[in-house]
Amino acid sequence: MANSGSETTTNNADVVVVGAGPGGCVVSYLLAKSGVETVLVERHADLDREFRGYFFQPLVLRLFDKMDVLDDVRSLDHDEVRQPALTVFGRPFEVVDFSRLPKPYNYGILMEQPPLLRLLIDRADEFENFEFRPATTVTDLRSEGGKITGVRATNRERDEDVELSSRLVVGADGRYSTVRKAAGTDPGLFDSEVELLWFKLPADAVQSAAQGRIESDGIVLYFGLGKEDAQAGWFIEKGTYPEIRNRGIDALRRQVGAVEPTLARYLESFDQCSLLHIEPGLSEKWVDDGLLLLGDAAHVASPVGGQGNGLAIQDAVVAHSTIVNALEENGGSIPSERLRRFESIRRPAVEAVVHLQRRGERALSWYVLNHDSIPGWIGAPLARVLFSVAPKTPGFRRTWETFALGDSEISVDTGAFRS
Ligand SMILES: Cc1cc2nc3c(=O)[nH]c(=O)nc-3n(C[C@H](O)[C@H](O)[C@H](O)COP(=O)(O)OP(=O)(O)OC[C@H]3O[C@@H](n4cnc5c(N)ncnc54)[C@H](O)[C@@H]3O)c2cc1C
Repeated sequence: MANSGSETTTNNADVVVVGAGPGGCVVSYLLAKSGVETVLVERHADLDREFRGYFFQPLVLRLFDKMDVLDDVRSLDHDEVRQPALTVFGRPFEVVDFSRLPKPYNYGILMEQPPLLRLLIDRADEFENFEFRPATTVTDLRSEGGKITGVRATNRERDEDVELSSRLVVGADGRYSTVRKAAGTDPGLFDSEVELLWFKLPADAVQSAAQGRIESDGIVLYFGLGKEDAQAGWFIEKGTYPEIRNRGIDALRRQVGAVEPTLARYLESFDQCSLLHIEPGLSEKWVDDGLLLLGDAAHVASPVGGQGNGLAIQDAVVAHSTIVNALEENGGSIPSERLRRFESIRRPAVEAVVHLQRRGERALSWYVLNHDSIPGWIGAPLARVLFSVAPKTPGFRRTWETFALGDSEISVDTGAFRS
């Protein structure tokens, strides 16, 4: 491990959670509420940073309600999504209708993640057995006799090296997980032919809560994020961003404007843009002695269907009950066989979602790569027929219900709560 030459301090906890994303914050809050000595380590000093997925499926509302945070979440700035609008070659289509789902969880939520993550951390902080350590980057795992016994980290604000010893390390540190890498686990990445260029916009750039537009010049997705902000995503062929930058912002504005004229005037500079790689994956192994990976660290999410937050939060809920039960046995690192329940419940459910996403991704990639060569007189009528017929098929309905409702068997283990 790289050492800054400063002091190393050592602390103990039952569980060290690495990464304060949706997965890490939810599992930390649940463990804290269950009396487990929990330390949550986050490399950023604040929660306001690089891109995060902003859409939360109805399934998340159900789980938030069971863990007693839904009212607080709803008091944060958000947009409710009931019938996301999709325009295909100038014609509006109703593809998904959340309002038909069983009440009261019959809508999705669009919101900035930092206030949500802050709320979960504040709720966990109500318990003395919880500690949040921001500005602390995990650099390596500690191990003894082949079992993981904690993490090594650096606190950049105090220029201090820290060792945290624990019975379990939860790797919730996202798509580029250091914990996964230190454990020698292959992320199992799939290749993708497209990338997403993401723009930050003022709130009035977007008229409805969630929209997508497919035209002969490309595909744009755009989302309102409460009263202040909005975002738009523009699909591009993988590897072409340097070329797009070379052509200049006016050329990009013209291209986006050909699909959605109202957005174009808000696109002023490349400073508004971030490039998001779409490289989903399924790690080969999610548990080991003293280690559990969840969320993107276990399975890097594709943006198709807005699934990443929901998958990470469902993982956190199942991990919570698995960990609480496993900790009941005295001793050191939790053995992998006590953690297998987590993987045996979550892997098949995640694989089913990834399978559906891969299908959607293939259709999307084909269109992004070929739309220039499809004559308008074929493209427009074909697309309109497809979007009129496909949403009515049982296969399509099953897919979006799986995306919206998740694994309905999963429930929060409220019996483990101390308060
Ligand atoms: C283009 C795109 C659009 C998406 N849109 C959506 C959407 O609308 N809805 C949706 O549900 N999902 C979406 N997703 C996916 C979603 O963003 C992720 O699946 C979700 O954030 C995963 O949550 P997580 O808690 O596992 O990890 P993350 O949210 O990635 O959190 C990981 C945390 O770990 C921290 N960390 C990393 N390394 C270290 C370290 N060494 N030490 C300490 N801390 C560390 C990071 O700073 C971060 O805070 C999208 C993904 C992409 C690529």
